[in-house]
Amino acid sequence: MGLLEGKNALVFGLANDKSIAWGITQAFHREGAKLGISYAGEMLERRVKPLAEKVGCQWVEECDVTSDEQIAAVAEKAARHFGRVDVLVHSIAFAGRDELTGPFYNTTRDGFKNAMDISVYSLIAMTKAFLPILNPGASIMCLTYYGSVKVAPHYNVMGVAKAALESSTRYLAYDLGPQKIRVNAISAGPIRTLAAAGVGGFRDMYKHFADMSPMRENVTIDDVGNAAVFLASDLSARITGEVLYVDSGFNTVGVQMTGKENQEKSE
Ligand code: NAP
Repeated sequence: MGLLEGKNALVFGLANDKSIAWGITQAFHREGAKLGISYAGEMLERRVKPLAEKVGCQWVEECDVTSDEQIAAVAEKAARHFGRVDVLVHSIAFAGRDELTGPFYNTTRDGFKNAMDISVYSLIAMTKAFLPILNPGASIMCLTYYGSVKVAPHYNVMGVAKAALESSTRYLAYDLGPQKIRVNAISAGPIRTLAAAGVGGFRDMYKHFADMSPMRENVTIDDVGNAAVFLASDLSARITGEVLYVDSGFNTVGVQMTGKENQEKSE
């Protein structure tokens, strides 16, 4: 029997088969969850529908999270289709390309507002909209990155947004704890996705990560999917307000060694 058998799980932020949301969706499917998928633009429908079919998902809904009306409408549709929901995944972020290169002090007011609205406020708005149909024991999760706590060059306003997202995770976990609803974040190492392609210097960061992480390996969407299964399942019943790192241990290292010494260690 799968770990998510009998659970209704909604995944927001599926763009294509490289998306972290796709790794999570597939892992949830493998563990027996009944799935719902939400995506952003109309253009994406062509890419998302065939993926949904692969996992037997019959609920595929568009939702632009900058719109309270669209969030309310999608929650209403979920209520009609599923009745109640056990797992809500927020795998959504956005910052303009100009904000993700060059110095952080060049961040524009509009760029700041946009990044915070789409990447942070949306988690709060979605939580509020879905709360009436969440079962006790339900699990909400979002995706974050280490650039929230340490400087990752070029990550800029998205690092600030991820810090706010992690803080929002803790405040939401506090609010929903008495209802036995949990809220956690997964902090994933760099993965080649559409969103990541917009971050200046991502290619170097990706390569550096494989050289420097204790496990000397990059992270895959399957790794994140498996961690998401744990957070979605009853195995993590008393875990809330946490940031779970899925990063081959990268965040645990204080001093990065380069060259010969690092090479010797990996041999
Ligand atoms: P992705 O496939 O591009 O997913 C990002 C998703 O956010 C896309 O589906 C995108 O839709 C959606 N989105 C953007 N604006 C939206 C809006 N207004 N309304 C609704 N959805 C919107 O990239 P990803 O890397 O899997 O990103 C998923 C999450 O993982 C993000 O929170 C990201 O910050 C986080 N993360 C990524 C990495 C990494 O290295 N890839 C590492 C740690 C954390 P559109 O394509 O239509 O814009």
